[in-house]
Amino acid sequence: MTERIFNFSAGPAVLPVPVLEQARDEMLSLPNVGMSVMEISHRSKTFDEIIHGAETGVRELLGVPENYRVLFLQGGASLQFSMIPMNFLPEGGSADYVITGSWGKKAIKEAKKQGNANKPADMADGGYTRTPSQEELKLDERAAYVHITTNETIEGVEWKREPEVGDVPLFADSSSDIMSHPVAIEKYALIYAGAQKNLGPSGVTLVILRDDLLAKIPEGLHTMLDYRTHVQNNSLYNTPNTWGIYILNLVCKWVKEQGGVEAMKSRNETKAQMIYDAIDATQFYRGHADPDSRSIMNVTFRLASEELEKKFTQEATALGLDGLKGHRAVGGIRASIYNAFPVEGVEALVAFMKEFEKKNG
Ligand SMILES: *Cc1c(COP(=O)(O)O)cnc(C)c1O
Repeated sequence: MTERIFNFSAGPAVLPVPVLEQARDEMLSLPNVGMSVMEISHRSKTFDEIIHGAETGVRELLGVPENYRVLFLQGGASLQFSMIPMNFLPEGGSADYVITGSWGKKAIKEAKKQGNANKPADMADGGYTRTPSQEELKLDERAAYVHITTNETIEGVEWKREPEVGDVPLFADSSSDIMSHPVAIEKYALIYAGAQKNLGPSGVTLVILRDDLLAKIPEGLHTMLDYRTHVQNNSLYNTPNTWGIYILNLVCKWVKEQGGVEAMKSRNETKAQMIYDAIDATQFYRGHADPDSRSIMNVTFRLASEELEKKFTQEATALGLDGLKGHRAVGGIRASIYNAFPVEGVEALVAFMKEFEKKNG
């Protein structure tokens, strides 16, 4: 089989075809280099241009202010769950973690190994279906930072605006909605994202952090776990994921060609709305997230029974609509429709949903 199917996987996820084509064309030799990106030194001029291009791409697309550093680290978003408290949760202090789903729970679990971590809100009631209102947030104004998950990939719950946190630094795990819509970076002190949803392959993690945070890092951390190491060495302290950074650079170029993050937002909203409209049309499908908190990246919904859901994913897979089975934590169906997911795939899913309902409703 050489034909591409529609890939609704939550991650690693679909990449833009032009990016894959360029990577294929350059697999044996980068232009005028005679070697692939995986075979050259990370200290070479060629790679220097690639990592610089990736940083410039991120900065331009997201409007990253001058006083922020852009890092390409390893260990996934999951290692950030540990690095953040190791660097920024001081002894005797505490941090606030707003829990809107499964990834936030994993983040606070690591923070608690380091020190005190509180939950200004935990939206577990109802199985994580929405973000809290400002009034529901019991924030501690002495917290070292507030941590949110801008898009909970498993539940399909997305913040539509940042919470007001006063002078406390706001940190965000944006692994599954980075670059899906414009973000006011200056509202955050630190944003991180594993690349494998919207930015590239797994194995590279984007971290954007404000300069003034670096002064708060305690002495004595292990070198690789200290953000200052990576800032001082431009993400080249050790051998980075050269392949991942190369693809991320190409993805940034692709996003730019598509019209930037603003254009991504409008395309993403259109795609998501098509599926939500199909869900809302009748009682046959039930959306998981509350309408105000619905994700434009991961659309989650249920059918009347698990049996019917199984039938749904099986028949969809047979038609080339792959990866629709929901995460085991919530069950049901999840359609992940990241930046690179084509609108034709959404049309195919909606047509299938209507057809399936007709036969089984
Ligand atoms: C996928 C995901 C993670 C985990 O990322 P890894 O790179 O596998 O560690 C963390 N947070 C969110 C929101 C995610 O979607």
